[in-house]
Amino acid sequence: MRDKPKKIFCIDIDGVACEHAKAICERINKEYNLNAEVSEINCWDYNFGPISFIQAVNQYYQDDNFISQMEVTPGFTNFLQNITKKFEVIFVTTRGSACETATKKWIKKQFGYEYKVVFINKKEAIEFEFEFIIDDSPQEIKSLAEKGKICFLFSRPWNTKEQKKLKQNKNIYIVEIFEKILKILKNMEKYKE
Ligand SMILES: [Mg+2]
Repeated sequence: MRDKPKKIFCIDIDGVACEHAKAICERINKEYNLNAEVSEINCWDYNFGPISFIQAVNQYYQDDNFISQMEVTPGFTNFLQNITKKFEVIFVTTRGSACETATKKWIKKQFGYEYKVVFINKKEAIEFEFEFIIDDSPQEIKSLAEKGKICFLFSRPWNTKEQKKLKQNKNIYIVEIFEKILKILKNMEKYKE
């Protein structure tokens, strides 16, 4: 008998798999002699003064070295290994296509496997069927939860304001650590073995 196809678990890259905000802070602190910290980034396009978060992303992501040196979020690798056993993992990112090669290299280097990576403008435009997604964008999570997807919002300083409202949606789980997702999945009737 053939194995049933695995259900798909989508994973965002920036702010979930990697510490992109840390990399941004380090670069702007050097460049503008600032003391910016990840914990102060309390909105999506935080203004550092000389440059905003989105401006910094647009500028620095053009440099493949900037991408290649990003750190993996603590606990993510272990989570990925666990989730890969049960689900088909697809990384989904809104990074521009110019980042494609560097991003794929980073995934291979960090996790030792060429996971599928989908580049898309908006996550709600994902065309394939999937069951779960983890993302740090409150907007993306909101729209996908409304479409019936099971969504995990990875708690970050830039999404804390929206968490209370998002929690009211039964399809949304707010997670501070990746292990929590594994626990939630274990308790979901539908995914029990
Ligand atoms: Mg993100």
